[in-house]
Amino acid sequence: MKSPRSLQWIELSRSALYRNLDSLRRLAHGRIMAPSVKANAYGHGLSEITRMLSARKDVAYLSVHSLEEAIVCRQSGWKRKIMLLGPVALDSMDAVIKHKLEPVICSREHLEALGKAADKRRVMVQTHVKLETGTNRQGFVDKELSGVARIYKKHKYLGGPLGASTHFANIEDTTSHEYAQFQLDNFNRLTGVMTKLGIKPKLRHTASSAALILFDKTRFELVRPGLSTYGHWPSKETYLSYRLQGGKNSILSPVLSWKTRVTQIKEVPADSFIGYGCTYRTTAPTRLALLPIGYYDGYDRGLSNQAYVLIRGKRAPVRGRICMNLTMVDVTDIKGVRLEDEVTLIGTDRGETLSAEQLAQWAGTINYEILARLTPTAPRSIVR
Ligand SMILES: *Cc1c(COP(=O)(O)O)cnc(C)c1O
Repeated sequence: MKSPRSLQWIELSRSALYRNLDSLRRLAHGRIMAPSVKANAYGHGLSEITRMLSARKDVAYLSVHSLEEAIVCRQSGWKRKIMLLGPVALDSMDAVIKHKLEPVICSREHLEALGKAADKRRVMVQTHVKLETGTNRQGFVDKELSGVARIYKKHKYLGGPLGASTHFANIEDTTSHEYAQFQLDNFNRLTGVMTKLGIKPKLRHTASSAALILFDKTRFELVRPGLSTYGHWPSKETYLSYRLQGGKNSILSPVLSWKTRVTQIKEVPADSFIGYGCTYRTTAPTRLALLPIGYYDGYDRGLSNQAYVLIRGKRAPVRGRICMNLTMVDVTDIKGVRLEDEVTLIGTDRGETLSAEQLAQWAGTINYEILARLTPTAPRSIVR
């Protein structure tokens, strides 16, 4: 039997992913690369991205948020290191050891639980210490570090921390970088405190995409780019700052395209309301195409009456509210639209492009959210 045809799918460009990695590696100047694949690899598909990254010997680590994501990476054949950025349940430290994960530690309770589990199983565990430098989200402040050092010394199989990290609060959304410098000063002071306490970190890491691209001083020994790996800029400000520093235009290309098909075409008369809430009314006889995707799939409801899709290389406007699983678009002015024609929601068709950034602007959010919320159930195919 022929496999059923999908009415919605995501295409991933291998060559774009590898080009982005090449660009980031050049910026990283030999630092250890630990790209972030959290949030289902920013909506791209965790197992597909993991498999493509496995083929790149220059990627030493993957960074994930959760234990569940780390397990998917292992199941997808990732044999190298995994850094666990997010928390683990206190009673689940055995899984951290079993899957050889390197958690970033943000509380003494978690470090203690991990130390006990490691000593009991007599297996060395590598850890990273998160430092609070001004984001006030996760991390240790000065006065907690002596307690942290005591826990490291108590548990033989913790063997001291391998790394120390922090995360910037205000590096993407601004062209002024005083706050990042303030956090960097704090980070340097706190790693100095760790060294005095006898828990000197070998790998210091602070750089997400924007920091890696813009600030040499944030790169230390390891970098953790997320969004840029997939070919997107963290913000207009990041792009602008990069260009002002003399950076080249073309270092990142989007990896993902999102496609669907026209599943019905219908003619509606002038003065007809379209969809829930009667938010759109036609002013002339109108040809509508029905698309089998909606906000459930990650096509944000904020795109209602705002966005366009591409059909035959032309923009068709969304009419009425985006439904849970359906969207209506106006194809009156596009010649020859037929049932099951391909529709581009994100990507390029015949020279016309709709970017995740453009969708984010229409929906009043950021490219990160548009990508991260793409439905994990749409089939992913790898192209080029
Ligand atoms: C998500 C995340 C990153 C990657 O950030 P991008 O802006 O996507 O590059 C790096 N470090 C930490 C701790 C993160 O949570």
